Amino acid sequence: TSYKISDLPKPRYARVNTLKMDVESALVELKKQYEVCQDAMVPDLLIFPPRTDLHDHHLVKSGSVFLQGKASSMVAVALGPKPRWEVIDACASPGNKTVHLAALMKGNGKIIACELNKERVKRLKDTVELAGATNVEVKHEDFLNMSPEDPAYSKVQAILLDPSCSGSGTVVDRLDHLLPSYTAESDVNRLEKLAAFQRKALEHALSFPAVERIVYSTCSINQVENEDVIKSVLPLASSYGFELTTIFPQWPRRGHPIFDGSQHVLRTDLIEDQEGFFIALFVRKGVSPPVKH
Ligand code: SAM
Repeated sequence: TSYKISDLPKPRYARVNTLKMDVESALVELKKQYEVCQDAMVPDLLIFPPRTDLHDHHLVKSGSVFLQGKASSMVAVALGPKPRWEVIDACASPGNKTVHLAALMKGNGKIIACELNKERVKRLKDTVELAGATNVEVKHEDFLNMSPEDPAYSKVQAILLDPSCSGSGTVVDRLDHLLPSYTAESDVNRLEKLAAFQRKALEHALSFPAVERIVYSTCSINQVENEDVIKSVLPLASSYGFELTTIFPQWPRRGHPIFDGSQHVLRTDLIEDQEGFFIALFVRKGVSPPVKH
C-alpha cells in the first residue's frame, strides 16, 4: 500500500561527481541519450525527464554521476565547505552527502564521516570508494561520543548533521494518510524519541570549539523533527555565538513560523518537490570563544 514519491511523473535528478568528471563533459555524454539540462540553483545537479532510469548508465556505475534528489543535494551546498576545511559528517551513511562535500572541497581538506551502524559503515566506505573521495576518513562511532575537547577535532570548522529521522518526507503510506489513526500513539512515541536524539545531536554539534557552520537536515515533514528541534536549541546556539542564517533565499518554501527567524530555514514539499526535506544552517558570528555549559 505504500509507494515511493519517485514513482510520480516528476523530473529526475542526478548529481555530477566533479571529483571524477566536470559538468560540461557529463552533459555532452548524457545528451547523446537523454534530454538533460542543468539545475539553476544547485551547481552540478542535472535534470532529466520523468521516468528516466539512469541506474545502469556507465557514468552512474563508475561513480561519475550520483542519483541524488534536488533537496538532498541542497544540504552540502548550504553548508558551503571551503577546500581546505576540516568537516564532520556526523551521521554519514550511505554517504551521498559525504561525497558531495568531498566534491565541493575539490578533494582537499578533510572530512570525518561518522556512522554508528556497522553494516551501514560498509555502505559508506563503498560510496566513498566509488566517488574517489580520498579526503574522507570513515569512523565507525557514535557521534555523541566524539568529544569536542579531543584535539583531533580542534580544527573542525563545519558539521553536516543529517540524523536518523522518520523519513516521512520520502514515502507516503496511502492508508496512513487516510486514517485518523495517523497519529497513533506508537508513531508519536517514535517521533518523540527521534526528536530527542536529533536535538541531542544538534546540541553536541554546537559544542565543537572551532565550528563556524552547522547544517541540520532531515527527510521528514514533521514539525517535531524540524522546527521544534531548531527552536529548542536556539538559546544554546546563541550562547555559543551561532545564528540561523538564510539559505537559498530564492526558494519560496520556508520553515513553519513557530519561532523568530523561521524564514531562514527551508522546507521542500513532499509532492511538489518529490521529497519533503528540511534544512537549517547555523553560522557562528564573530570570533568570541564558545561559552562552556
Ligand atoms: N547523510 C546520509 C546521506 O545523505 O547519504 C544519510 C544519513 S541517514 C538519514 C542517518 C544515519 O545516521 C544512519 O545511517 C544512522 O545509522 C546513522 N546514525 C544514527 N545515530 C547515529 C549516531 N549517534 N552517531 C552516528 N551515526 C548515527
